[in-house]
Amino acid sequence: MIVELNNITKIYTDAEVPAVKDVSFGVQDGEILTLLGPSGCGKTTLLRVIAGLERPDSGEVIMQGKRMASNNCWVPPEDRGVGMVFQDYALFPHLSVRDNISFGLKNKNKAKNAEKVQEMIELVGLENHADKNPADLSGGQQQRVALARALVTDPILVLLDEPFSNLDMNLREKMRREVVRILRKSETPAVFVTHDQEEALSISDKIVVMNNGQLEQKGTPREIYESPIACFVATFVGQSNILHGVLGPKGENIETDLGTFTYNYQHNKQPGEDVIISIRPDGFELVEDGPIQGTIKEIAYKGGVVDLIIELTNKEFYQDLLVHIHPKYRVEVGDKVSFKLLP
Ligand code: ADP
Ligand code: MG
Repeated sequence: MIVELNNITKIYTDAEVPAVKDVSFGVQDGEILTLLGPSGCGKTTLLRVIAGLERPDSGEVIMQGKRMASNNCWVPPEDRGVGMVFQDYALFPHLSVRDNISFGLKNKNKAKNAEKVQEMIELVGLENHADKNPADLSGGQQQRVALARALVTDPILVLLDEPFSNLDMNLREKMRREVVRILRKSETPAVFVTHDQEEALSISDKIVVMNNGQLEQKGTPREIYESPIACFVATFVGQSNILHGVLGPKGENIETDLGTFTYNYQHNKQPGEDVIISIRPDGFELVEDGPIQGTIKEIAYKGGVVDLIIELTNKEFYQDLLVHIHPKYRVEVGDKVSFKLLP
C-alpha cells in the first residue's frame, strides 16, 4: 500500500460534528482512487489529512509502511513526498512555466534539475509554451503546468482536489483523459476529489463514496454503480428506483410489487426479511404487453437517451418509476406503455 488511512476522525475546533468520522481505506501502487460525495462531506479534509496539512484527532496515516500521523507521531507535509494540484492551480503569476515547474525542486544540481523540468514539460506537452507566464496560457494549459509541478519531485502520490471544476464542459472531458494518461505514464498513484459522479466513474480504478464525513462504500466504478450497498450510494451515483421487497424462502429471490428479482450477491439476510433494492432506469425494456404497465407522466429528451416518469397502473405501487428508453421510440405524455425488467 502506498497510503493507508486507519480510522481517521477529524473535528475542527468549535465544530459540532466531525468533518471526517472513522474513515479507513488504502491506495495501492499505480492506482487512481477518487473520493466522491456531495459538497461538505469531508473530501478536502481527508485529502489535507493525507498531505499533512491537517492533523487527525484520532486514527493513523501510514505511507509505504511508515507512520506519518497518529496520536504520538507527526511527519510534516514537506517530508511526506506528496504532490498536490489545487482547484485554482495556485501558479506563480510572475514566473514562467519552466520556473513554476522547477520551483519545488530542492536538489542543488542545476543541470539535473533542468533536465527533470524539461522531461516534465515534454510529459505534459508544453514544449512550445515553456517560457510564457501563466496568464498567457489557456485554462487547460495552466492545469498541465500545475500537474507538472506536482510530478517534478517524483512524489509517491499525487492529490488532486476538484482539478477540473474551473474548466468548461468540453475541455473538462479532454483534460480528464489527458491527466489520467499523464498519471498512468508517470506511474504515479493519485487521489482525486470530485462531487461529479460521471467523472468519478470514468477516471477511477477505485471510488470511495462519502456522505456526512463517513465512508459509505469503496469499490471499483462497476461495483459502485451496479451493486450499491446503501440507498445513498444508489441515488448519488447515477439515478435509481428504490423498491421495498421481501426475501423469498430460499434467500435468493426478492418479491416486490414490480415482480421477482434474483439476487446473486452475498448477504446475511434471512428468508422473509424486508430488503431494499435499487433498479437503475436502464434496467427496463419497452415491450408490447409487458408485465409492468403504466402511463407516461413526464418526458425529458436528453439526446442519447430519453427519461420517462411512469405512473404505474398497479395502483398499490405507491411511487412513480424513472425509466430510460432509446430516443428511437416516439412517445408522448399520456401514452400507455409497458415494460419488462432486463435480466
Ligand atoms: P468537501 O471537500 O467534501 O466539500 P470539506 O472537507 O471541505 O468538505 O468540509 C467538511 C466539513 O468541515 C464541512 O462541514 C465544512 O464546513 C467543515 N470545514 C472544512 N474546513 C473547515 C475549517 N478549516 N474549519 C472549520 N470547519 C471546516
Ligand atoms: Mg472540497
